[in-house]
Amino acid sequence: MIIVKGPAELASMRAAGRILGELLVRLRAAVAPGVTTAALDALARDTIAALGGAPAFLGYRGFPATICASVNDEVVHGIPGARALRAGDIVGLDVGACVDGYYADAAVTVPVGPVSDEAQRLIAVTEAALAAGMAQATPGRRVSDISHAVQTTVEAAGFSVVREFVGHGIGASLHEAPQIPNYGAPGTGPVLKAGMALAIEPMVNAGRPEVEVLADGWTAVTRDHRLSAHFEHTVAVTERGPEIFTKP
Ligand code: MG
Repeated sequence: MIIVKGPAELASMRAAGRILGELLVRLRAAVAPGVTTAALDALARDTIAALGGAPAFLGYRGFPATICASVNDEVVHGIPGARALRAGDIVGLDVGACVDGYYADAAVTVPVGPVSDEAQRLIAVTEAALAAGMAQATPGRRVSDISHAVQTTVEAAGFSVVREFVGHGIGASLHEAPQIPNYGAPGTGPVLKAGMALAIEPMVNAGRPEVEVLADGWTAVTRDHRLSAHFEHTVAVTERGPEIFTKP
């Protein structure tokens, strides 16, 4: 069942989203050759605390950090550590925050110095796919209208969408119904209503869609080891259209 939120719940989610919007600006500015993913994680932990939130991922199912940092062929759920970013890398930064018991979730993929044309195009297409998906988050549309818009945008550019991980409802839990795949035929699944809150998150591979999880139990990588990008926003469905809570 998809939980419809009231104004007070949405206000808490809006506050959590505002923290993430600000944090993503600071993280993007901190990305540079030589910076470790652990340093980005520390920045995120400190920033969330300073802005009055709580980290959502730290300890979630045992996850050991505040952000997921996924470099190059890493798709999602990379664990921050001593790895130093290098010019030409791309890094996906995914982070959640909680305010008054309500969650927001967001991700960006950032180039490290100058990157290849393919990396630039992958980042642009993934961000465009997120925008296309969010545009469907209006009352009366169905969940798979979001999925279809994402998939169409990605495949028109010659890239592929990951099947194993999906977007999700969000609210008093980080992950709620419905699941929001990044592929599928339009016009199926639950009808969207004002007050629903969704984390829409295309994960896009430059090559084939298949992924595998490394021995650390978290890090998902592309099986063909080509690049992958990830963007995510938490949005509310409203009568006036989608409200993006996590906008930078
Ligand atoms: Mg998410």
